[in-house]
Amino acid sequence: MNLSTDHLAIRTTCAYCGVGCGVQATPKDDGGFAIAGDKLHPANLGRLCVKGSALGETVGLEGRLLYPQVREADGLRRVSWDEALGQVADKWKSIIAEHGPDAVALYVSGQLLTEDYYVANKLMKGYVGSANIDTNSRLCMSSAVAGYKRAFGEDLVPVCYDDLELADMIVLVGSNTAWCHPILFQRILKAKEARPEMKLVVIDPRRTATCELADLHLPVKAGTDVWLFNGLLSYLSRIGAVDPQFIEQHTNGFEAALDVARADCADPAVVAKICRIELPLLLEFYELFAATRKTITAYSMGVNQSSAGTDKANAIINCHLIGGRLGKPGMGPFSITGQPNAMGGREVGGLANMLAAHMDLERAEHRDVVQTFWDSPVMADKGGLKAVDLFQAIEAGKVKSVWVIATNPVVSLPDADQARRALEKCELVISSDIMQDTDTTAYADVLLPALGWGEKDGTVTNSERRISRQRAFLAAPGEALPDWQILSLFAQHMGYSGFDFDGQYDVFDEHARLSGFRNAIGDVPRAFDMSGLAGLDQRQYNDLEPTQWPVRRTASGELQVEVRLFKDNVYAHADGKARFIATAPRAPMHAVSEDYPLSLNTGRVRDQWHTMTRTGKSATLADHIAESFVDMHPQDALLSGVREGELARVTSEWGAMVARVQHGGGIPRGSVFIPIHWNGQTASDARVGALVNPVVDPVSGEPEFKHTPVRVEQFRVNWHGFILSRDALNLDSVAHWTRIQGREFARYELAGRNTVKDYSAWSRELLGVNDPDADWLEYEDKTAGVYRAVHVVNDRIEQCIFMSPRQDMPSRAWLASLFVKEQLSEIDRVGLLVGMPVEKGADTGPTVCSCFGVGRNTICNAIIEKDLKTVPEVTACLKAGGNCGSCVPEIKKILVQTRVEAAEAQ
Ligand code: SF4
Repeated sequence: MNLSTDHLAIRTTCAYCGVGCGVQATPKDDGGFAIAGDKLHPANLGRLCVKGSALGETVGLEGRLLYPQVREADGLRRVSWDEALGQVADKWKSIIAEHGPDAVALYVSGQLLTEDYYVANKLMKGYVGSANIDTNSRLCMSSAVAGYKRAFGEDLVPVCYDDLELADMIVLVGSNTAWCHPILFQRILKAKEARPEMKLVVIDPRRTATCELADLHLPVKAGTDVWLFNGLLSYLSRIGAVDPQFIEQHTNGFEAALDVARADCADPAVVAKICRIELPLLLEFYELFAATRKTITAYSMGVNQSSAGTDKANAIINCHLIGGRLGKPGMGPFSITGQPNAMGGREVGGLANMLAAHMDLERAEHRDVVQTFWDSPVMADKGGLKAVDLFQAIEAGKVKSVWVIATNPVVSLPDADQARRALEKCELVISSDIMQDTDTTAYADVLLPALGWGEKDGTVTNSERRISRQRAFLAAPGEALPDWQILSLFAQHMGYSGFDFDGQYDVFDEHARLSGFRNAIGDVPRAFDMSGLAGLDQRQYNDLEPTQWPVRRTASGELQVEVRLFKDNVYAHADGKARFIATAPRAPMHAVSEDYPLSLNTGRVRDQWHTMTRTGKSATLADHIAESFVDMHPQDALLSGVREGELARVTSEWGAMVARVQHGGGIPRGSVFIPIHWNGQTASDARVGALVNPVVDPVSGEPEFKHTPVRVEQFRVNWHGFILSRDALNLDSVAHWTRIQGREFARYELAGRNTVKDYSAWSRELLGVNDPDADWLEYEDKTAGVYRAVHVVNDRIEQCIFMSPRQDMPSRAWLASLFVKEQLSEIDRVGLLVGMPVEKGADTGPTVCSCFGVGRNTICNAIIEKDLKTVPEVTACLKAGGNCGSCVPEIKKILVQTRVEAAEAQ
């Protein structure tokens, strides 16, 4: 009998990174859904990383915003959609009448679906008449967009994922692909396994997990990429690794770009010194690049998030243009996007300096095309405020109302405390979100419930220009609505026509038709053309298979797709030629100083996503890295007076935060790394955005997240502790806390400054255990200042608290495992106050492989006991690393460390 439920599966896409993996959600007998990779999706062919695999843990309704609400003097009041949108429309009409259309703004997100984005952009630019719509994608890939536009005349990603497998060399610049785009990294590793001669080069100031499997790692000083690639351009020219015919026939600006590159970077020894790498290492890279025609240079936030981000992108593209290395299989510059639909946002013009369908705001003929197509009453005719400028204009009172959609700027913007001040001062803040309580919704005057992943239906575009359907498999909760519908209803309240869409398929159809409308106007046709997908009815839209653009229909009705661009060497500039851009190198805007001697770099960790409003719900994802940390070189830690494992206060000119010191081993002297994820709900004081300088790239407006001068100091506390509790706790009285989602409990890591006189009474009060007859087991060593207590209810562990003046407390993994037990055994109870199991091997240690829940202790024990020597041997023994592969670099590191320690111990 065939018991497969595949035929019931709903095919959708992952909610997180720009790889855009296909996901299959299959109904289970218990009413839930099993999440698996979609074997038919070309991006991932069935594989998912741990974040994708854990999507099912994030769809619960805990904490969801379910009804429209308005803030009144005594708190939030539930209202109808009509009342909420009517209030906003009345206020926007009066603001626009009094102060003009630029006094209102939308701040949206790369996590919107294309249909949502399309309606938002149409509303602002064609009806409100302002380009004040910007997006959190400004923070991650706007430099890549600007780089492409300068080089190619349009925002065009030349390559496709298959090119990664066809390349003979992949250069990853400023991209911890192993953690941030794990499935792409797995594809690269598989290709390398099949062709070991294929080279992988990583250019990154940090020695990240990606470097563990690279042939060459160039640990360049942060911010020196333009020197590095200008040096490469000079080198390629000097040794004759050029394609003069291509340069002559298909490009402009070569001599000027080369002159500028030669001015500072002709001498590799000088470049090596500026980039702070060994000269032989630099030359090895240059020689490899020159010798390997089929090279992909893939770049990400390390390039984009800089005050010279656009120049960095163009310096890379220049090195491909000089040899005509693009438009053919296995070669080209390739920006990897961070968000699931940053690319869809680019298509609809969802940035303040773009128009719809890749048209330009500055060009009157393009504005005319769009206005004619929309039949709209007005059309924005100049760029709007980019993200950082927008929030400054809000604080200055120039923008009176902002509508924040699907993003959390109080955590994610640079100078995040400024974003908080701006929202505090703003006359009317509207927030469309899926969560009731975020750092941003706290400042909203009107809260509007939106659909979340699993409930939403529409399309997204991934990093290789592939449009995929995101399909709903969960019912809409409460009164939540899709974002496109919320915006369309609002437009109707404003009295605008043109928003009476039949459904998301109708929005998609309009978007597809606009892309082909008067496409060839003026000069070169726009490459962004998905007119082949126009005219789909509801059923055809439902059935749409993942498709790349450009996609047109032939005269006989066949779909014609271009999987990679520029094979005919025609670019989107008026003369059909690509542009070399002269990129004079410049250092980050703010130099380190005596007061702020370290350079702060920020980024993602493997198992979390953005501001954790969704991934923070998953116990699986919380297992890998529980707390925010400041990773720094041991000598810098010594000079700063902090030690590994201790809490430190990190301060910049703009703000401060607290994080735990660690020495990951990959941080060069003079810099620190802090992850971007922790917010006001998951930690008392760990928003790294508060530190980041609000300096932006002059072309793209992208902030400099990769360099802010900071100092690190000890965060003095009297005691440390942790709590595991089935109920949520209020810990406002504790100096520092982090909340970590567990299975059937929440874990709190604590540190206090208060002097606790009576530990027992204090702990009972904190945990809300008032019953004197409660099953409360405790241990106290007054002299050592150690206190431990466990609260048991009906033979199940309910809560536990461990406190000590020292950091070294028991591993939380075993205590955590007791919360899923229906009943504690006698042997469990023996270990409770010790915090350790009596049986050997029961403490698995911190999680390394989240897919299979394999801890560090388990791996170390197996390496020793079974004499494991390679990652495949560890995988064969424990399964660890055998699914998404994100932990393979970490397992490799553990293998080396454990075997070295074992050899030394002998
Ligand atoms: S790599 Fe992971 S996070 Fe990115 S789309 Fe695929 S499953 Fe989702």
